Amino acid sequence: MPKKTFKSRLFANSNVIAMHAYTPGEQPAGSGWVKLNTNENPYPPSPQVASALRQEIRRDGARLRLYPNPTGKNLREALAKHHDVAADWILAGNGSDDILNLLMRVYSGPGRAAGMTTPSYSLYPVLAQLQGCKLIEVPFGNDFALNGAGIAKCRANIFFLTSPNAPSGVGFTPSQIAALAKKFPGILVIDEAYAPFARDNAAHLVKKYPRLVVTRTFSKAYSLAGMRVGYALAHPGIIELLDRARDSYNLDRLAQTAALAAIGDPAYYKKTIARVVRTREAFRKKISRLGWFAQPSQANFVLIEPANSCGQTGPDVAAALFAWLKDRKILVRYFGKHPLTHASLRVTIGTDQEMAALTAALDSWLKLAPPR
Ligand code: PMP
Repeated sequence: MPKKTFKSRLFANSNVIAMHAYTPGEQPAGSGWVKLNTNENPYPPSPQVASALRQEIRRDGARLRLYPNPTGKNLREALAKHHDVAADWILAGNGSDDILNLLMRVYSGPGRAAGMTTPSYSLYPVLAQLQGCKLIEVPFGNDFALNGAGIAKCRANIFFLTSPNAPSGVGFTPSQIAALAKKFPGILVIDEAYAPFARDNAAHLVKKYPRLVVTRTFSKAYSLAGMRVGYALAHPGIIELLDRARDSYNLDRLAQTAALAAIGDPAYYKKTIARVVRTREAFRKKISRLGWFAQPSQANFVLIEPANSCGQTGPDVAAALFAWLKDRKILVRYFGKHPLTHASLRVTIGTDQEMAALTAALDSWLKLAPPR
C-alpha cells in the first residue's frame, strides 16, 4: 500500500512550525541513580503534605469527581498572608512554567519584544517563539554579573531575569533589582524559582514597583516538583490580566491541597532549606580544594568548572566528566551549547550521602591516567 503523507503542517500556526521545543533534564528510568541534574530537592516534602493529600482523597477518592476551586482560593490567601499582600496580588498556576507562559502570552507578541539574559532558563525562548515575538538577549560576561544598564535600554516590552540565576547560581541583590525596576520601562519579571535558598529576594519590592512581577515555585524549596505548583506575585492590575488568560482550572485539587499544606509548615522547610545550603557550601569547599572553579551559588545547585588530572579545563574535559559520571549512574547537567557554560557542569545539591558519592567519583576520575 502506498504510504500516505498527511501534511499536518499545512494547517498549523507558523510560530509552532518554526519553534524548537524545550528540552527538559533527563529523568532516567530504573533505580540506583544519584540524580543531580534537575534541581529537585533531595528531601521529602513536609509530612503534613502526605497527610493532607490522604485526607483529600479519603478512602474512595470521591472528592476527585468535583472540580477544584477555580482560583485556588485557599492557597492564594495563604500565599498572600505569607507575602503580606492581599489575595488579588497572587496568581497560582500549574508550576511556575505555567505562570511564565501566561506572562509571555499577555505581555509579548508581534511588535512586543521579550528579553532575557543569556545564558539563562531555556524555556523563555521557547515561549517567545510560540508568541511569534522578537527575543532580545542581553549577554552575561564570565562573572555572570548583572548588566542592569544593558537590560534597561534593551527595548523589550517584558524582560525575564532569573535570580538567583540559572545555570550560574549567582544571586542579584534587592537593591540591584530595585534600581533595575526603576530604569527598565517595561514589565520586569524576576524568576525566583531558587530564591528560598538565597540570602535575600525581591518579593517585597512588588509593592513599590507596579511593573515588577516575582514568580515562585513549589518545585524546589518545597520538594513538590511532582505536583506542579507555582505562582506570581504582582500588582493586581497585572494579576487580573494573567487571570483572564489562564486555563479555568489551572491548578488541580491535589496540587492545591499539597501546596497549602506545605506553606502551612514553615518550620519543616526552614530545616530542609538550611540543610541544602549547608551541603552546598561544603560541596563548594570540596571543589575549591580540588583547585576547580565553582560559581558562588545562592541556589540549590553549583556550576563547577572541572579540570582533568593534567589541570586542563574546557568543553572536552567537561563533556568527558559528564559521560564518565553518567556511566557510574551519577547524573549532572551539561549545557554544551553556550560558550559561558560549555566548560562547566551544573550540579544539583543532593543529600550529604549523594554528594559524598559524587565527590568520591571526582577523586577517582582525577586519579585516571591523563588523556593523551
Ligand atoms: N524557572 C527556572 C529558572 C527554573 O530553573 C525552573 C525549573 N526548570 C522553573 C522556572 C520551572 O519550575 P516549575 O517546576 O515551577 O515549572
